[in-house]
Amino acid sequence: MARIIKNFFISFGNIFRRTRTIIYPKEKMIIPEVSKGLPRLKLDLDTLKVICNGCGRCEKICPQNCIKVEKIIGNDGRESLKEFYLDLNKCIFCGNCVEVCELRAIEMSYKYQLAEHNAENLKLEKLDLAKQADHNLRDFWLR
Ligand code: SF4
Ligand code: SF4
Repeated sequence: MARIIKNFFISFGNIFRRTRTIIYPKEKMIIPEVSKGLPRLKLDLDTLKVICNGCGRCEKICPQNCIKVEKIIGNDGRESLKEFYLDLNKCIFCGNCVEVCELRAIEMSYKYQLAEHNAENLKLEKLDLAKQADHNLRDFWLR
């Protein structure tokens, strides 16, 4: 009997507590600062070109083999990035690619709503990944 009364008061008290759940997708949750969303290629703010030089370190360290980097050699003999592929179908958002990049050319964005009907749409290329560069505000995803 005492247990029933105790549980009644617990349940009654819950009526006045703040709700812990949200009505998704109508409401969006506040994303913690350490969240890892869609990886994105950062832009050099002066040239508005991707910072990535195609060194391939992220490609080697990715545990899911979802990155493929293609390089070109210019007339001056210097290598630069030609294309950057990322298959989001396989990505586990571990962040290894970010940690290994010496140029800080890639980072995890806060973009987390990534569901797609067509898996092909999750095979991203350099421009797709660079396009995310303006989505750097955490509260962007709250709108
Ligand atoms: S993102 Fe960084 S580690 Fe990956 S290829 Fe570009 S420069 Fe190299
Ligand atoms: S977050 Fe992890 S799995 Fe995804 S591309 Fe980077 S290294 Fe690969």
